Amino acid sequence: MKALVYYGNKDIRLEKNWPDPKLKDDNDAVIKINYTGICATDIEEWQFGPLWMQSGETNPYSGKMIPLVAGHEITGEVLELGKGVKDLNIGDRVVVNNVIHCNRCFWCLNGQGGGCSGMCVAGFMDDGGLAEFMRWPASHLIRISDNVPTENAALMEPTMVACHAVRKSGVKPGDNVAVLGCGTVGLLTVQVLKAAGAKVTALDIRKESLDLAKLLGANFVFNTSDSDIINSMFDITDGIGHDIVFETAGGAETPRLAINYTRKGGRTILVGIYSAEPKMDFNEIVNSEREVIGSVAASPGDMEAAVHLLNEGKIDATPLISEVVSLDNVIQEGYERMNKGMKDVFRVLVKP
Ligand SMILES: [Zn+2]
Ligand SMILES: [Zn+2]
Repeated sequence: MKALVYYGNKDIRLEKNWPDPKLKDDNDAVIKINYTGICATDIEEWQFGPLWMQSGETNPYSGKMIPLVAGHEITGEVLELGKGVKDLNIGDRVVVNNVIHCNRCFWCLNGQGGGCSGMCVAGFMDDGGLAEFMRWPASHLIRISDNVPTENAALMEPTMVACHAVRKSGVKPGDNVAVLGCGTVGLLTVQVLKAAGAKVTALDIRKESLDLAKLLGANFVFNTSDSDIINSMFDITDGIGHDIVFETAGGAETPRLAINYTRKGGRTILVGIYSAEPKMDFNEIVNSEREVIGSVAASPGDMEAAVHLLNEGKIDATPLISEVVSLDNVIQEGYERMNKGMKDVFRVLVKP
């Protein structure tokens, strides 16, 4: 089959004759890929990696290391099933839950799967979805409803990241919540929060992102370049401030801003991955008794929650799909263009 294979730093290759995947056991499935999204993490691995990519030693679950097929935001349809699989049928459209937890380590046993020390993630630690076909355990394939457009399902991995962060925040219906940074994860977080009954304020410096946030259900949008923003945020919350602020921008200054935008005694959830070291006066946390919580990847149940919202019509990923390219052109039209820092682009999907 054709596959985009990660060999190492700045070394990705479109292979024309990569071996077709086979069932490893009776609980496996092989899917035909419909769409796989390219995300910033893929570009980072290519330019600066291997970071998450399995290298140096094999993954305990998959027994593999690079070279590996890239791609972790995957949707497809079932082509082949192991004899032990009862709850899926050939032809079912599914989302790949790309994170397999070990369910044995200290963190898994404490319900903190984000910290799992033995996890296997498709596209990083086992072959992923930038290919024509893929093998994966059937227990980690989740069916999508007939009414859901297939492309939307390719955005379930970032939606899972949003669901995980929202769950960690402990949000309650009616809470005033702000999301700082309206990229893909931020705009999906806005929608997950709306589904949870929160009143959502979207914050960004880009007007197009704020327009999209409004379209996707944000109650209020503010431009962070507006010098009066703190007062505006107090105005819409009866002078109290926002109960919870999500930081999904990942900038050098944005964690400090997110903490400042959080009300006294409120919670800041850090979802961004920070390449620059932010400066912070910790008295901002101490004197206001704010809580600051980190959130990464997912725990068991988060992908199921994401697909449930998709099937219920609570997530609209369509406006976040900027373009669909073919696997033949994935390097030039996907990776290379995203590496040039294309503005106004959310997700590029690859259709084999
Ligand atoms: Zn991703
Ligand atoms: Zn574990």
